[in-house]
Amino acid sequence: MTTVNRVYNFSSGPAVLPVPVIEEIQRDLMALPSVGMSILEISHRSAAFEAILAQAEADVRAVAGVPANYKVLFLQGGASTQFSMVPMNLLTPGTTADYIDSGSWGDKAVKEAKKVGTVNVAASTKAENYSRVPLQSELKLTPGAAYVHMTSNNTIEGTEYKTLPEVGHAPLVNDTSSDMFSRPLDVAKHALIYSGAQKNLGPSGVTLVIIREDLLTRSQKSLPSMLNYAVQAENGSMYNTPPTFAVYTLGLVMKWLIGQGGLVTIATVNERKAAKLYAEIDRTGFYRGTAHKDCRSLMNVTFRLATEDLEKTFVKESTAAGLDGLKGHRSVGGMRASIYNAFPEHGIDALVAFMREFEAKRG
Ligand SMILES: *Cc1c(COP(=O)(O)O)cnc(C)c1O
Repeated sequence: MTTVNRVYNFSSGPAVLPVPVIEEIQRDLMALPSVGMSILEISHRSAAFEAILAQAEADVRAVAGVPANYKVLFLQGGASTQFSMVPMNLLTPGTTADYIDSGSWGDKAVKEAKKVGTVNVAASTKAENYSRVPLQSELKLTPGAAYVHMTSNNTIEGTEYKTLPEVGHAPLVNDTSSDMFSRPLDVAKHALIYSGAQKNLGPSGVTLVIIREDLLTRSQKSLPSMLNYAVQAENGSMYNTPPTFAVYTLGLVMKWLIGQGGLVTIATVNERKAAKLYAEIDRTGFYRGTAHKDCRSLMNVTFRLATEDLEKTFVKESTAAGLDGLKGHRSVGGMRASIYNAFPEHGIDALVAFMREFEAKRG
């Protein structure tokens, strides 16, 4: 396959996939080896798909070192459906859930949880435009909370937690949609981890959920079956037709990630990529990073220019130069470079070179 026509894709999601993954999809799209049918055409109950699902789960477990007492689920409805499923299953009557509000996605999670039960916003940096994540000392946690919900990487604002907050014995629920498998993570410190796949794990359409088994007892039988973690776990993510193509592709991405050396190696690469870009942002003051330096995201690098007109010109000219998707989220403006695992390092070099040229012309 030729990659000649591919631009540098800085999209926040759906986002860039590893080229070898796309090549394998292309090669096998007409007929999976020894199956003779496309992944798009086979039954989810076929032995071929069952093997694909089992391998994807095994590779997720291997990549993250998922302990045996956790279930790995492949669900649908995106991370946004988890905003509802988490409280529907875990926020039982008479209990309170703590939410750490560190960004626009966390805020949405709060809104959905409030429709289900009692929510305590344990801390919020909304008043500071979410330019940092809350400090440990700012958390007002509820004793005996049903769970504590956090967002490890704030995709829109470009901040991330460098270490997990301490939440005592409360089950920690983490929306890792935009930094899943970009760095080592300690699954055992969590009760539930969820992630829409379309940033770092694969295409849209599948949501990865890793849930500690003891939590499954909280799911009430009265819940809609599709929204019930216990039902999904009992049925091995096959209560209904799973998103077969998305699971297949997620599996290929896991295989690629293992080939890269796993989470420790990819984290080193991600640190190097982000450091190059932040160094350029900090070099002269022409560009201005919007996140506090101690919680700058390695996945979503946000920055601004002196005026909105200049920002518009930057977006236009960078797009023309083959650097696509640098416009920031509509709610915050400015620029955002999403540089997930699959984003190539030479694309960072290309952006840095463009930024220097742009500054030389307009600075
Ligand atoms: C993208 C994103 C979401 C929303 O994901 P969907 O799969 O579109 O529902 C939620 N949380 C975070 C942190 C995200 O980055």
